[in-house]
Amino acid sequence: LAVSGVRSLSPYLPGKPIEELAREQGLDEADIVKLASNENPLGPAPSSLASIKRQLSDIARYPDGNLFNLRQALSQKLQVLPEQITFGNGSNDVLVLLAQSWLKPGVSAVFSEYAFVVYPIAVKAAGAESIVVPARNWGHDLEAMADAVREDTRMIFLANPNNPTGTAFSRDELVCFLDKVRNDIIVVLDEAYFEYVQDEKHPDGIALLNQYPNLVVTRTFSKAYGLAGSRVGYSVSSKNIASVLNKLRQPFNVNNLGEAAAVAVLEDEDYLARSRSLNSEGLEKVATGLQDQGFAYIPSKGNFITFDTGGDAMVVYQKLLEKGVIVRPVANYGMLRHLRVSIGLPEENDRFLQALAEVKEAVI
Ligand code: PMP
Repeated sequence: LAVSGVRSLSPYLPGKPIEELAREQGLDEADIVKLASNENPLGPAPSSLASIKRQLSDIARYPDGNLFNLRQALSQKLQVLPEQITFGNGSNDVLVLLAQSWLKPGVSAVFSEYAFVVYPIAVKAAGAESIVVPARNWGHDLEAMADAVREDTRMIFLANPNNPTGTAFSRDELVCFLDKVRNDIIVVLDEAYFEYVQDEKHPDGIALLNQYPNLVVTRTFSKAYGLAGSRVGYSVSSKNIASVLNKLRQPFNVNNLGEAAAVAVLEDEDYLARSRSLNSEGLEKVATGLQDQGFAYIPSKGNFITFDTGGDAMVVYQKLLEKGVIVRPVANYGMLRHLRVSIGLPEENDRFLQALAEVKEAVI
């Protein structure tokens, strides 16, 4: 018997795999461009690959359940105590762990309309109620979110930048929000795309932890660090919050190959710099291309852009698939006219823009 309400949930819908499209459309895998899952188009860092190779002979052993090496490296890099970090099988895992730890039937959690789709799933799985606050200009309406908090609210999810809209809020807006929120409510600040943001006014959630002990910041190695397949994410919080999370955490939720890869890339400043510059150039290129073709798009701070197809997004999605270009529908967010495209290599971005222009001719 499922927890009440779980049956009514829509499951997380991942991007279509290249192999599946190749089979469906009779295409060569090499001719397919996948811009559907906000992955790093550079592929893994050579430093991560070398580290995984060195670690391979150890896969008969359990990983280090405390992730000593990665914990030390991250605590130095982020200037936090090792005890403030909680690791997860991707940051998704930590988000679910947070919901499991603080939510239960009879309490509520607040998040924004169009916010990352895992929040409602995690809240429902814990048996709690979701309070969804209407977005403003596709982004979080932090004032309305603070007002939406009820007596029974235990958790608030904020994504900065948000997926799938790419919207972000400033440090001033965040601080003003945190000042208003009761300090017995856990505020989860999801910074999965933090490393991509190049804006002086963008907040670094970790720098605010000392001031706001109810704040939990989640980050990941899946995006700018190029390790989506290795599933390594983490949260940084007060030691108290981390100790609660660590009680419920599965003992080996990050494997030894993932840890080795993450330790290596964390020191690889060149890879991070290349990820960031490739992304900012690509973002500009794709935004300009969309604009030139007359598509309205939501300005993005992440490694993706969501644009208005002007009609039924699924028709455009399907036509792009036929041309070997995989993007992401966002209908499960209630956005029926929009599609989300991840930023790829320059030639992949060009393929997408070219295919979109052809589809536009044919159907729009
Ligand atoms: N938060 C946001 C806003 C995301 O877009 C994603 C990835 N889609 C995640 C968290 C989770 O990523 P991961 O589990 O790979 O760390």
